[in-house]
Amino acid sequence: MKTKINLRQRSHFSYVASLFIVILLLLGNISYAQRPGSAQTQAIKDPIVDAIVKEATENSQLEKLAHELMDGIGPRLVGSPKMKQANDWAVAKYTAWGIPARNEKWGEWRGWDRGITHVDMISPWVKSLEGMQLAWSPSTGGKTVTGETIVLADAADSIAFQQWLPNVKGKFVLVSMAQPTGRPDYNWEEFGTKESIEKMKKNRAELTQAWQRRISKSGYNARTLAVALEEAGAVGVIQSNWSQGFGVNKIFSANTKKTPTIDLSLEDYSLLFRLTESGSKPQISVRADSKETGVQPTFNTIAEIKGSEKPDEYVILSAHFDSWDGGTGATDNGTGTLTMMEAMRILKKILPNPKRTILVGHWGSEEQGLNGSRAFVEDHPEIVQNVQALFNQDNGTGRVANISGQGFLNAYEYISRWLTRVPSDIRQHITTNFPGSPGGGGSDYASFLAAGAPAFSLSSLGWSYGNYTWHTNRDTYDKIVFDDVRNNAILTAILAYMASEDNTKTSREKIVLPINPRTGQPGQWPTPTKATRKGGLN
Ligand SMILES: [Zn+2]
Repeated sequence: MKTKINLRQRSHFSYVASLFIVILLLLGNISYAQRPGSAQTQAIKDPIVDAIVKEATENSQLEKLAHELMDGIGPRLVGSPKMKQANDWAVAKYTAWGIPARNEKWGEWRGWDRGITHVDMISPWVKSLEGMQLAWSPSTGGKTVTGETIVLADAADSIAFQQWLPNVKGKFVLVSMAQPTGRPDYNWEEFGTKESIEKMKKNRAELTQAWQRRISKSGYNARTLAVALEEAGAVGVIQSNWSQGFGVNKIFSANTKKTPTIDLSLEDYSLLFRLTESGSKPQISVRADSKETGVQPTFNTIAEIKGSEKPDEYVILSAHFDSWDGGTGATDNGTGTLTMMEAMRILKKILPNPKRTILVGHWGSEEQGLNGSRAFVEDHPEIVQNVQALFNQDNGTGRVANISGQGFLNAYEYISRWLTRVPSDIRQHITTNFPGSPGGGGSDYASFLAAGAPAFSLSSLGWSYGNYTWHTNRDTYDKIVFDDVRNNAILTAILAYMASEDNTKTSREKIVLPINPRTGQPGQWPTPTKATRKGGLN
């Protein structure tokens, strides 16, 4: 809104405004001076760094890449046609940027292609329900299957459960607890009374325990129960794996072998559950059109900018490429993927002849056990022995906030030195933790670290990752925070540049790990785990 102001008001306004600005400046200076180590946050001037920042800011490709990958291709379940499509897309992108790239086969996986899942309640009234097949779930065989719902029985013991089991024939079995509230805790804490919050939490804890008892009394675990139900003639298994946020569920893989396993939103699942319990005999119809595509080859996408002086020493940019497929894998790990691709694109333009080779690894099957990176470590000992540094990013869209030395005694020396070139607006958000302790898993850096290579995790701010995006049906393009991803691409490009051009090879000396208080024994450095080269086929 525009407002006309007369001269008197304007001069009054500008007087107040300038006074305000002076106060702000003073406050700003004071807080700046008080910040510990603030003298170091002023980065050393470097024309390469300036050019990296300029390219990342003025010619960013992040939005375009995100659109092509998340919207154009979609989720990237290992072994699925979309995963292969993404591998080929990445090779084409690198090739177009003048960076040699290849898909390296490391194994095979059960091939599966998600199709339409359509779930409707048709009685006692009609409502299309929000839900989808779990990954690798069987289909409905080209048909729409209709049936009544039944809630998993609270049998006295496994014998009583066996006696109840024939009741599931021709029915969809509701196997999850009905959550007492679809509101996340933060919402309760904002609006509820202390008493109502305590009551809700106590109620929920009791219901959760009772549901766990219900499953264990059946004589099965969550995995074997699904198979027992389908063998008893159930036409589908219905669950709801709530992720503790509004309208958000986690979508993992199915345990059934011939009937579909469907996840429904908390809202729709609870509706069916209440209607079933009240005797309204709800009926649903399900159409699930996934396809089995046989045993499929699986790949890592690798691209390299060859080193001009030390081509056999490597700086590795690392991010897994596969995803769970409830959403489009936007923050797990679309954003890590974009960070590394954009950093490579920028480096090729600004530093086309680095001293050391800069290699990017887009790993397959991290979600099923770091398999792509473990296979790479097994297949390329000559690279692993000569890693100068590896930077992995895999915990969401946020700006990098933490870098640990991962138990490498001298990591503080080189990482701190490399960070001095990072502009203060990026550097100021990062806490370093040296020497740190070696990470045993969680993401692909661990595969390299276990083999002794100086591999680091660029750990980012959460943006409600755990509840809202991680492995959920809401991990989609709209959750990407592009300014933070841009921040991370710049940081990664500068770290890669500094690591590549460093006059000295990085030290791999490990700290003596402290005594583990649980075992009383000295801590052990993680050891390599064998990659699963043939997966999902049992
Ligand atoms: Zn991930």
